[in-house]
Amino acid sequence: MHFEYDIPTKIIFGKKAVLENSGIFPLLGKRVLIVTGKNSSKLNGSLDDVQAVLEKEGVKFFLYDSVEPNPSIETIQQGAKNAREFGADFVIGLGGGSPLDAAKAIAVLTHNELSGPEIFSGPYLKKILPNIAIPTTAGTGSEVTQYSIITDQQNHQKRNLCTEAIFPKYALLDPKYTYGLSAENTINTALDALSHLLESCLSRRSIPYADAIALEGINILGKTLPQLKEELSQRDRESLLYASMLGGVAISRCGTTAIHAMGYPLTTCRGIDHGRANALLMHAYLDFVSQAQSEKVQIIYDALSMTGSEFKGLLDALLGEKEIFSADEIKAFAEFAVGQANIKSTNPEPGLADVMGIYTKSFLH
Ligand code: NAP
Ligand code: ZN
Repeated sequence: MHFEYDIPTKIIFGKKAVLENSGIFPLLGKRVLIVTGKNSSKLNGSLDDVQAVLEKEGVKFFLYDSVEPNPSIETIQQGAKNAREFGADFVIGLGGGSPLDAAKAIAVLTHNELSGPEIFSGPYLKKILPNIAIPTTAGTGSEVTQYSIITDQQNHQKRNLCTEAIFPKYALLDPKYTYGLSAENTINTALDALSHLLESCLSRRSIPYADAIALEGINILGKTLPQLKEELSQRDRESLLYASMLGGVAISRCGTTAIHAMGYPLTTCRGIDHGRANALLMHAYLDFVSQAQSEKVQIIYDALSMTGSEFKGLLDALLGEKEIFSADEIKAFAEFAVGQANIKSTNPEPGLADVMGIYTKSFLH
């Protein structure tokens, strides 16, 4: 066995993670850009908490609250301009995966005034600001990854800005912020977390150490997923946030695979939520990778405490009526997906016909 594993993010998990750790904020500077979405952080108490600790510590802040779901290049450029003009020393990402990812990209672009493809490729010759991540959804695990997924709206593509320098310095996870998530949002984000957990295990880049982390998350979700349509307890919310964070830790070093590569065009071309897009493809993907990894797929079903057909039944119940796609759409999505870097991490690596097969099987009614 040979592997290397580190994530440089200090994880602080638990109630009052923000309020009881005000001392970490001034460690990163005196001026901060808070990057968040339009509404939810004002309603779930997270923005109040962040502003309270910054005021307590004498850290000046500028609020950039314009981040939309699946943030665009324009949104991060505007945020970087704000950070530059404000003289920010660091950035706080507060919200779902979209504001967290936007904050990371803004941290890169504040002093690296790039445009076009160089946003994603670099080189990033100037300082990248440090960032703190405070998630309010339980799905992306972005608080512990070096990825920032940004949408190129002109080309209908999701692009990955990936550099070690955007690993958050601190991830502050308080489950309280997730209590008010809608059932739909809870389902979609939990299934995104499941996707990270199982894709990291089944990736060509999988690492036994990360498998152990991922199987812990899968086991937790196996107990929680069947209840997602009901009222969730605070304990359930805590479990979902914990499992989501484990998924981020796992994909930070093992990456994602065909599910994410194939899910992106469903979001960029048809506006389907990221977690839902992944979940729609999940069962057919598991069938496909079983050709090469039937034992590992069985380990995943065992961790979920479900058979393959029980899992399919659960996914169908959670996802409800599925979207319909034309044969032309499926062909175009498949052509896009086979060109993605993460498709190559899939074991076995699917060709165009295989990818079309997974799409077709996923959307057969
Ligand atoms: P999101 O796009 O951040 O947010 C979706 C919606 O949820 C928004 O309307 C948001 O409202 C609302 N919301 C957020 N927190 C809430 C709360 N506590 N209560 C009620 N509503 C809340 O959703 P997401 O699924 O977390 O993030 C998806 C993005 O993350 C995608 O762009 C995906 O590609 C990316 N992603 C990144 C990674 C990574 O490693 N970097 C991994 C997976 C996915 P407001 O807009 O008002 O805040
Ligand atoms: Zn994802």
